[in-house]
Amino acid sequence: MSRKLEQLAFDNSFGRLPPAFYSRLMPTPFEYPPYLISFNRDVAELIGLDPEEVQRPEFLAYLTGEKPWPGSDPLAMLYAGHQFGHYVPQLGDGRAILLGEVRNVQGDKWDLQLKGCGITPYSRQGDGRAVLRSTIREYLCSEAMHGLGIPTTRALCIIGSEEEVYREEIESGAMLLRVAPSHVRFGSFEVFYYRGQHDQIRVLADYVIEQHYPELAAHPQKYVEWLRQIVSRTARLIAQWQTVGFAHGVMNTDNMSILGLTLDYGPYGFLEQFDPGFICNHSDHHGRYAFDQQPHVALWNLACLAQALTPLMSVDEAKGALAEYESTFITHYYDLMRQKLGLPELNEQAVSVVDALLELVREDSRDYTLTLRALAQFRSGREANNHLLRDHFIQRAKFDRWAHAYNTILLQYHSNDAERAQQMNACNPKYILRNYLAQIAIRKAQDEKDYSEIDRLLLALRNPFAEQPEFEPYAAEPPDWAKTISVSCSS
Ligand code: AMP
Ligand code: MG
Repeated sequence: MSRKLEQLAFDNSFGRLPPAFYSRLMPTPFEYPPYLISFNRDVAELIGLDPEEVQRPEFLAYLTGEKPWPGSDPLAMLYAGHQFGHYVPQLGDGRAILLGEVRNVQGDKWDLQLKGCGITPYSRQGDGRAVLRSTIREYLCSEAMHGLGIPTTRALCIIGSEEEVYREEIESGAMLLRVAPSHVRFGSFEVFYYRGQHDQIRVLADYVIEQHYPELAAHPQKYVEWLRQIVSRTARLIAQWQTVGFAHGVMNTDNMSILGLTLDYGPYGFLEQFDPGFICNHSDHHGRYAFDQQPHVALWNLACLAQALTPLMSVDEAKGALAEYESTFITHYYDLMRQKLGLPELNEQAVSVVDALLELVREDSRDYTLTLRALAQFRSGREANNHLLRDHFIQRAKFDRWAHAYNTILLQYHSNDAERAQQMNACNPKYILRNYLAQIAIRKAQDEKDYSEIDRLLLALRNPFAEQPEFEPYAAEPPDWAKTISVSCSS
């Protein structure tokens, strides 16, 4: 069942917390009339909204703050965070407003958060706006991650305007309606720890547990158990990022979700030629958030969270929870990788054949996604000929050694090639959001006001594992000009 805009079941639990956690305010509408750039019917259905409601003028009016949305309770959330290793005592939603939380008919609750909606008490020097370029990037990537089966925030729509926004150059402003079960971050706790307001930490922890970890509410050691679950979710999330080659780019603690979701898409990037030291954010001069640093950084960030939660548990308990990170990450990472290689069991042999493959792909600078996808074509058997796959590599002798080891395992398990290929194609995506694909959609939108490429990409990325002949060009290696694309924090 889907509802009209005015009939959405708002239940604004965050706004029932004490005022210390937020500032109530309305979005600042654009100076020029807003218009719809893209609308995601899947997310409309997710939140229980009738997708046809997008046709009504009230849709844009409610979303952009021109008219109060009946039932909503707009507020900007307070948080702090460690940015590039340094504590920044006050951040908060500087350009986003939580319009409210709606409950769908299944009973699931969703935050509706509008990003790019004007200044708030937490804007610092910022203008409270987001540029069209960055909203398109977030919109596409969050849906791409969802398609890949990776926990993430989602997005309902992009709303455009003629409003000028100043970044390195003048760009047009846009708003994104982001949807997630919660936008609480690690930094939402840090702010009260460093202010010495430890009673607020308990209030917020109880709230998050009640809303999102209800099975822990009656647990005798609920806070430690909760931290252990956050550690586990985060470890598993990062393992998923690493296996698809996703680099977040700005893993500050204010961009780390308390639910283990991928949150805040800025200068992210997917690995193309496999380079573990890949730095997607051009403002990250020291490579703090390089692709291969992400597993360590996530643990570092978890340690910041654990410290902020020490008023609720002993230091030893917090350390004990953190100590589980590494083994959870490694086990989950290799378990996903062994599935990508079509291996039935996680053991030493599987780990070594995964490592050896990654070494070859790295040394030969092959495209990570396409190489893994191509592996489904591997034929097992003593006489099997894998010359097409072999030709993909520069180091043929090294490939032969690897293929021999891989083949040996497959023979041990009497692997059925056709079945294995099917399983592998279900976990090695054919389509990822390559930067240049996003860039083409952005250029068309900026230069020609043609938004069709956004919708096409959205369709393709929704089913990244399926063969989609109409989208075949999206699966190609990036063109040479893609190397010149530079993404920074500016958004
Ligand atoms: P981000 O790098 O997008 O995760 O943002 C870090 C912090 O800066 C958050 O508190 C944001 O709300 C704030 N921020 C980023 N861009 C702007 C902007 N244009 N105006 C106001 N605040 C911003
Ligand atoms: Mg952020």
